[in-house]
Amino acid sequence: MTDFGFGLSKSSTINLDKVDTELRQRLYGMEPDLRLCMQCGSCSAVCTAAPYSGMSVRKVIVGLERGVDPRPMLNACMLCGKCTMVCPRGINTRHLILSLCRIYDKEEAK
Ligand code: SF4
Ligand code: SF4
Repeated sequence: MTDFGFGLSKSSTINLDKVDTELRQRLYGMEPDLRLCMQCGSCSAVCTAAPYSGMSVRKVIVGLERGVDPRPMLNACMLCGKCTMVCPRGINTRHLILSLCRIYDKEEAK
């Protein structure tokens, strides 16, 4: 094969019709404030774990919409609560992370 010095990236297209929304709906049930998120990124900007792990509450929330497993990021969270203090929508993001962990714990215990 000819090497042109560049390659085409794998398509990042997401088929939203195939995304499993059950987890998201369960989380909305536990954390109704999640619907208020405006994706401003303030929570991610102050995150203690972000420089070492790429943790981002905003990415977790967007990922849930798109069917991306957030567990690697959740494991990095130190539950310091800084993200909750800066959220302009008053979302308890720390509690949101805990609720998400509880959902996954229950799934894994089955
Ligand atoms: S609670 Fe977790 S996500 Fe929020 S700022 Fe702290 S380490 Fe980051
Ligand atoms: S700070 Fe609040 S509104 Fe902004 S992205 Fe994070 S959760 Fe959403």
